[in-house]
Amino acid sequence: MITTRHFSIDQLGDAAELLREGQLVAFPTETVFGLGANALDAAAVGRIFVAKGRPSDNPLIVHLASRDELSRIVSHVPEVAKALMDRFWPGPLTLVFAKSAVVPCSVTAGLDTVAVRVPAHPVATELIRLSGVPIAAPSANRSGRPSATTWQAVSEDLEGRIAGIVEGAPTQFGLESTVVDVSTSQVTLLRPGGVSLEALQQVVPGIQVYDMRSNAAGSDQQPGSLEGMNQTVNSPGLRHRHYQPKARILLVKDMVSQPRTAAEPSAFIGVSEPNDAPKFTRILVCQSVEEYASSLFDFFRQADQVGAKSVYCESVPEVGIGAALMDRLRRASES
Ligand code: AMP
Ligand code: MG
Repeated sequence: MITTRHFSIDQLGDAAELLREGQLVAFPTETVFGLGANALDAAAVGRIFVAKGRPSDNPLIVHLASRDELSRIVSHVPEVAKALMDRFWPGPLTLVFAKSAVVPCSVTAGLDTVAVRVPAHPVATELIRLSGVPIAAPSANRSGRPSATTWQAVSEDLEGRIAGIVEGAPTQFGLESTVVDVSTSQVTLLRPGGVSLEALQQVVPGIQVYDMRSNAAGSDQQPGSLEGMNQTVNSPGLRHRHYQPKARILLVKDMVSQPRTAAEPSAFIGVSEPNDAPKFTRILVCQSVEEYASSLFDFFRQADQVGAKSVYCESVPEVGIGAALMDRLRRASES
């Protein structure tokens, strides 16, 4: 156990110093809280995997303060990537590029590509700028658990295991970034997130969508070929268990037809009021799919705190942020 120092957002200089020393610091971004380490320091990166209990074959996303630093860590920037960066950076879009030699293998899980993004969050960008190095940062939670969307959730999972936590406000999107592979001529959406497929298609009409369902969490199946394509997509992290609270997650279309045992504490989250609302120990009816997405992971943690055995999650149409939300719900419901 180590002592975890807590920083307010006006103490970023001290937090940046820990990062420069090779220590781990959690910080807010617009997607979820990230667990940062100097991406160019293999020992520092190794500490991320230990603190999170993260499998070493799950690569990390490198965060930059600005696009100007990209040439340091990637070996080639295709034209299509420039168009995507012009439109979506800074923001919740991660791009996968051919990596440069300075990026340690542990960051990329041995792949010859590196995932990069520039966050749209003033605290994140200032911290990265002050540290003076690219920052590798997965979500700041223990591996397999719901991502942390508040500093309290970071503390719940990682207090005593990391050097510092920057105490920012709860995150805006609440789901992780969209991941798009631009390292080959066929641009491919690997993970839905804060930037929707529809928005990406406006810039890259021919973008392919990787079928996450054929690459189920917890299976030992390798990432396979996309239908109609002769190339292999390699995004190892997609097959790991993810986002799971202690409670069982049940994805439901129609609450009316769901049998429930009154004796078992349970929770509900969705956008419509279930007709048996009083039977739930904890319930959150959101005003929009955006609110549903941003509240989900914190709700999972609250459900655990009240001892819920099951969390009923309403299905939503897979458009806009709804696609990312359904992806996380599906993966959380896999056991
Ligand atoms: P997390 O930091 O937990 O949001 O996970 C980052 C995810 O980004 C990984 O689990 C992968 O699915 C994806 N990713 C990171 N680096 C690469 C890469 N070089 N190639 C393909 N996918 C990647
Ligand atoms: Mg994660």
